[in-house]
Order: sequence, then structure tokens, then C-alpha cells
Amino acid sequence: MARFQFDLLVIGAGSGGVRAARLASDAGFRVAIVEQSALGGTCVNVGCVPKKLMVYAAHAAQEFRDAAGFGWHIGKAQFRWSELIANKNQEISRLNRVYADLLEHAGVTLLQGHAHLVDAHQVQIDSDVYSAERILIATGSQPNVPEFPGQELTLVSDDVFYLTKQPEKIVIVGGGYIAVEFAGIFHGLGSQVTLLYRGPLFLRGFDDDLRQHLKVEMENKGIDLKFNTTIEAVDKQNGQLSATLNDGTRIEAEQILCAIGRKPNSGDLGLSALGVAMNNNGAIRVNAQFQSNLPSIYAIGDVIDHMALTPVAIHQAAAMIEQLYGERDDGLDYHNVPTAVFSQPNLATVGLTEQEACARYSKVKIFRSLFRPLKNTLSGNSEKTLMKIVVNGADDKVLGVHMVGPEAAEIIQGFAVAIQAGATKSIFDRTVGIHPSSAEEFVTMRDSI
Ligand code: FAD
Ligand code: NDP
Repeated sequence: MARFQFDLLVIGAGSGGVRAARLASDAGFRVAIVEQSALGGTCVNVGCVPKKLMVYAAHAAQEFRDAAGFGWHIGKAQFRWSELIANKNQEISRLNRVYADLLEHAGVTLLQGHAHLVDAHQVQIDSDVYSAERILIATGSQPNVPEFPGQELTLVSDDVFYLTKQPEKIVIVGGGYIAVEFAGIFHGLGSQVTLLYRGPLFLRGFDDDLRQHLKVEMENKGIDLKFNTTIEAVDKQNGQLSATLNDGTRIEAEQILCAIGRKPNSGDLGLSALGVAMNNNGAIRVNAQFQSNLPSIYAIGDVIDHMALTPVAIHQAAAMIEQLYGERDDGLDYHNVPTAVFSQPNLATVGLTEQEACARYSKVKIFRSLFRPLKNTLSGNSEKTLMKIVVNGADDKVLGVHMVGPEAAEIIQGFAVAIQAGATKSIFDRTVGIHPSSAEEFVTMRDSI
């Protein structure tokens, strides 16, 4: 009889866990996966997917306005929050079933409940204990909650997806992906939005030109951006929330959303008792094979806090399983991971920012184009698109490609392949554009600034 019930027991059926479980099972191993909540994890239930559906909903308002310049007159548009949420919920339920089918077809045993490690090879789920040769922790992350008095009156991103009523006025705290995306979503849907960020300019770490350009575009749309601002306390008066800010002023809102980062879900798994090494924020420390300091325990995804993105978790899953059970012997290359903020307009990027490139290389060339997209000539929309290429002057290699504008995520995904392949600026120049498009600007920029 086998020493263990399973070859691999995965904790967490989110982006990374599901991919790892399916790949290991497809390779012929006995695999179980444990999930305490809905299948698909953060991305499917309270992350990328419902968020992007809400981005589409918000953007529709802009499309209606733009249509008038092309001769369309649609009358007064009406938005119903409850319909959006109900339709979104229906789609998420469908995806939950798709995930269940994927696991079943792959032959993965699905165990429902909260998992807790008993030792390096045993996992307790409610009153049952299961054994496995290896355990993979893919438990994701959860929103940080602020520490000011009255924080319990505020929302985190998980709550926003299930609000029964659209807030007429919302204050959003934070300057990262979630804060910026939800500022665009609520504004597009008709809420009055104020975004509070503690630093001088949001989206720290992205190219400064893009941050500045997005700030201007968001302000032009009517989003109130307050930088160098924090909340000291929140209380409730006459059904309205009232926040006291660091300058002593107060701001009223129907809802306050705090999007101030996330922390790894590693606290209640029993890892400390087993001696699993973790960073101060709870991120499980792993080597290039995604193995912790306990040889039978592995971890991938948000719980290791490398880059908290769905495609990264999925790549980590593939790299881990291929290294463990296959031929692969290299780790994962985190250079040139493309990413997008689904703001209005989108911001997307791959490779080094101008600031990073200048810190690393002595001769950096910048190509930049700021223009009014063709569509906006008739729509009357004043929104401008910014595109930027960062090049190493020494060898002509393209180090970074950045964009703020419609469909930036779709466009940058393609250029990420070119950068990953080591394309030079002269290869960009030799590439024929698609006309008329915004994307063609990336292959027609000739003069560096
Ligand atoms: P998760 O997908 O979170 O899965 C972890 C699973 O483990 C969960 O289902 C959880 O219930 C389960 N679990 C936890 N503890 C236990 C336990 N003890 N027992 C059993 N089960 C347990 N990324 C992008 O790339 N693009 C986007 O547009 C994007 N948008 C986002 C929007 C929001 C609002 C948020 C919050 C995140 C977004 N992300 C986005 C990030 C992305 O969702 C995560 O990086 C990704 O889901 C991480 O995958 P994971 O497998 O590590 O964890
Ligand atoms: P981010 O890490 O992107 O941003 C956190 C923001 O909160 C930063 O602006 C940070 O400021 C600020 N902050 C941190 N602590 C405090 C505090 N105590 N008080 C006030 N402000 C604070 O986190 P998010 O929560 O926005 O998103 C979590 C992660 O999920 C992202 O990092 C990303 O990996 C993933 N995600 C990806 C998306 C995508 O791919 N489109 C969309 C949504 C999420 P400062 O910069 O000054 O530190």
C-alpha cells in the first residue's frame, strides 16, 4: 500500500492551485485540491474577472457619450447597479462550475473545507486528516485593513463586488491597482469619486510620465484626486460616513473603500508551528523550485508575494510542476512581466520604466508620443493617448514599452513578446504598422527626446 494517500495535495483552488493540480494530475500523479470557498479563487470571484466586467460597464457610459459625434442619439442612458451585479454573479457561478468540471476531468480529488497542516505530510480538513508526499500551498492573499478608528465602517475590495446599492458618493483610499481601477469604475457608473493617496502621485513604481498623464486624464473626467492625504478616523453621522483627514478637514461619503495592499494567507495554516520560514508580512519563503525550507512543502502565487498577478501564479504553477515531475530545471523569469491597470483609460506596461533604465544604463533613449486618437476627432472626447519606448542607447535593445490609452492592455501584450524576444529599436522601425490604429505609433516613433 502507498505510504501517502496523495502524491500532491494542493491547498487553495485559485489561479495557481488549480493549474498546478491539473498539470500534476495530467502527468499521472494522485492529486487532491482543498478549497474553503468558491472555486477559482480571488481572480474569478473577487478579482480580475468581476473587476473587468465592471470596467466594461463603466466604459459603456463613455461610449454612449462618444457616439453622439458619429450621429447616434440614444436618449438618456440609465444604469441599474442591481442588474450589473446580478449578471456578474451569474457569470461567476458559471465560471465556478467550469472550474469544477476542469478539476473533475483532470481526475483531481476535490476536498471542500478549511485546510490546516498537522505535520509536513498531513493536512486536516474539518475532522478528516489526509496524507500526501508533497503539499502545495496556494492560498492567495487578503486585503489589508487600515488601522484608523472607525475602519470597521469601511469596505475592502471583496465587499464592493456584493454591494446591494451603488454609492452616490464614494471615497477610495490607496494609490495602487485596486484604488485606481475602482475610481474609474465608480466614476464611469455615475458615482461621485474622491481618491485619497498618501504620497505625492499614485501608482508608485510605474513610469512617471504615465502616472502623470493618467492623473491628468482622471481629473479631466471629474475624479477628485487628493494626494498627500490620509484618513485619521471615520465615523457615521445621519447614515453618512465622515472621514477626518490629516489636514484636519472632513469628507463625507456613502461608502469608503480602502485598497491599501494585500497580505499573504499564511496565518492560519499551522505553518509557524511546523517551522516553515516566512517573511515579516507572512509570505512563505521558497527557492527557485518553489520549495519551502521544509522539503515536502511548496508554495506559489500571492502567498509567496513575488508578483501578485494571476498569470504569474499560473506560470509559477507550471514551472513548479515541470521542475518537480518533468524535465524542466530552470526557475521562473520575472523580467518583462507585462501588466495593466484597468483604469479609464487603461495603463499598460512591460519592461523597465525610464527611471529604472536610467538608474541601470548610462545611455538611455526615450521615444514618446502624445496624441489625440482618431476616434476622438469626431467624438469630441478630449482624452489623449501617451506611448513611450525606453531603449538602451548602447545596444539598441528595447527595455520598456508603456502606454496610457484605450486598449493599452491589448496592445502591450503583443509588444511583450517582442521585448521577451530581445527586439531592438531598429526591429521596431522595420516593422510595418497597421493603419489607422493607435498601436502603429509604436513602430513609427523615430526621434528620441
Ligand atoms: P487565489 O486565486 O487567491 O486563490 C487562493 C485560494 O485559496 C482561494 O480560493 C481561497 O479561498 C483558498 N484558501 C485560502 N486558505 C485556505 C485554506 N486554509 N484552506 C482551503 N482553501 C484556502 N491579477 C491580474 O493579473 N489581473 C487583474 O486584472 C487582477 N485584478 C485583481 C483585482 C482585484 C480586486 C484583486 C483583489 C486582485 C486582482 N488580481 C489581478 C490579482 C489576482 O487575483 C491574484 O494575483 C491571483 O488570484 C492569485 O492567485 P493565487 O492562486 O495565488 O490565489
Ligand atoms: P497595491 O500594492 O497595488 O497598492 C497599495 C496602495 O496602498 C499603494 O498606493 C500604497 O501606497 C497604499 N498603502 C499601503 N499601505 C497604506 C496605508 N497603511 N495607508 C494608506 N495607503 C497605504 O495594492 P492593491 O490593494 O491596489 O492591490 C493588491 C495587488 O493585487 C496589486 O499589487 C496587484 O498585484 C494585484 N492587482 C492586480 C491588478 C491588475 O493586474 N490589473 C488589479 C488589482 C490588483 P505606497 O505606494 O505609497 O506604498
